Amino acid sequence: MKRQSVKSPHGVVVASKNVDKIAEIEAVLAALDPPIAVIPGHVWDDIDETEDTLGGNALLKARAVAAATGHAAVADDTGLEVEALGGEPGVNTARYAGEDATYEENVTKLLAELEGVTERAARFRTAVALVSPTGEELVVEGALEGVITTERRGSGGFGYDPIFEVDGRTLAEIPLAEKNRISHRALALAALAEALTD
Ligand code: IMP
Repeated sequence: MKRQSVKSPHGVVVASKNVDKIAEIEAVLAALDPPIAVIPGHVWDDIDETEDTLGGNALLKARAVAAATGHAAVADDTGLEVEALGGEPGVNTARYAGEDATYEENVTKLLAELEGVTERAARFRTAVALVSPTGEELVVEGALEGVITTERRGSGGFGYDPIFEVDGRTLAEIPLAEKNRISHRALALAALAEALTD
């Protein structure tokens, strides 16, 4: 994993167009000490996730957005690794049911794949990359262990949250503030904060 010393930025552009994700990242960065502000209002061309690792894709997105905006950029890439599926969908988590699959379609496909399967352990893994405008780079990871339920439960969160259970509750049944303390993305962002220098 790429690790070098990067100075803590005052503000970052979040290299994502996923509003659910941006909201989670913004909340976690705001709670850091010192807090890191999210710089809004930037646009950039679509970035294809062409790497075959989460870290590679996070870095690719952060590099492109730092170059396009002239600000430090943070990008994340998340994969859901299901034991019974040999770690799939992994890097293809967003596209599991097809190129433009909705959250609903992806969840439906995963439940169908695991029909009748009793071993349902899974983990969310998130790589977070920070790239500064001068080209300093950092990549860190966070992971959250859980199990895939047999049906959807809860109305919060997004993506696979309604079928990812941690200690008896799905992530969609856990209040967002609590998810933002325990999640794979929160742990990766905490590791990022830890790795930054003053
Ligand atoms: P991405 O490639 O990092 O955008 O994430 C891949 C896919 O993982 C997303 O499309 C979501 O379906 C799913 N995902 C990412 N983060 C979460 C999460 O916190 N909870 C549930 N699903 C997530």
